[in-house]
Amino acid sequence: MAEPFYSAGLQFECTQCHACCRHDPGFVFLGQRDLDRLSRRLGLSREDFVKKYTRWVDSDRGRILSLLEKKNFDCIFWDQGCQVYEDRPIQCSTYPFWKTPMKSEENWRWEGRFCPGIQKGPLHSREEIEQALAAREAQPAITFEEWEARA
Ligand code: SF4
Ligand code: SF4
Repeated sequence: MAEPFYSAGLQFECTQCHACCRHDPGFVFLGQRDLDRLSRRLGLSREDFVKKYTRWVDSDRGRILSLLEKKNFDCIFWDQGCQVYEDRPIQCSTYPFWKTPMKSEENWRWEGRFCPGIQKGPLHSREEIEQALAAREAQPAITFEEWEARA
């Protein structure tokens, strides 16, 4: 099999521009681990957390769980910075090493149009990138059916 384009690693360093947390509509999907950590952090039951901070959005897997946004499209947890940073969702902590940007060099360069940290700063190894991809894969967003079927 051909080596991935990132086999020699990729440069990335977050510039703290916060563009990925604010201003534009988007989704921050939550897996089981995200829901456990965030609800524990806020001292809420999982049910109360889902009611207060999330919405169900359509996807090819059916409706899946995502964080709410404010009216101005900032993430519900944005307030002069991420208010849940240590327990932020895997989707946030693994960016930009997501499946689509990692498909090709072209995709990676395209992602750089949205994130000024791409192609800057330290090199992240292939192993590190693949760990991020695996972490995300291991925690798919919770579906409405799974939520309804919980014990
Ligand atoms: S868009 Fe990129 S550089 Fe800006 S906050 Fe997000 S990860 Fe960091
Ligand atoms: S949870 Fe935190 S890191 Fe993730 S989008 Fe919201 S504010 Fe940004």
